[in-house]
Amino acid sequence: MIRESRTTTAGTHRVLVDDGHFLWGDKYQERERQGLIQSDKNCIACGRGTSRQGKGYGVLVSGGGAVIVHPDDYVTYPHDGGEMGWFPIGSECIKQIPREFRVRGTVS
Ligand SMILES: [Zn+2]
Repeated sequence: MIRESRTTTAGTHRVLVDDGHFLWGDKYQERERQGLIQSDKNCIACGRGTSRQGKGYGVLVSGGGAVIVHPDDYVTYPHDGGEMGWFPIGSECIKQIPREFRVRGTVS
């Protein structure tokens, strides 16, 4: 994961650029191959289930799954490659995400 700022006509946006192995990466794909991904409540990093209480942390994803956008910058981000929205990340994997990029969400 690479942290960077991108300047566009809409201003400067703080983003985390995935290295291709974190979001829906190796661990997730392995669990998917095993048929263990049962819903969109699974952590998008490791594929394990997230909070059964329906509350947990996640991130705002853009760029077709390659970029995590800072929550304060998400609305103005140009979303080249595809806006994707909020996705859950489990309590262990979220430790790899800088605090200011974590967004509390509700998975119904
Ligand atoms: Zn995880």
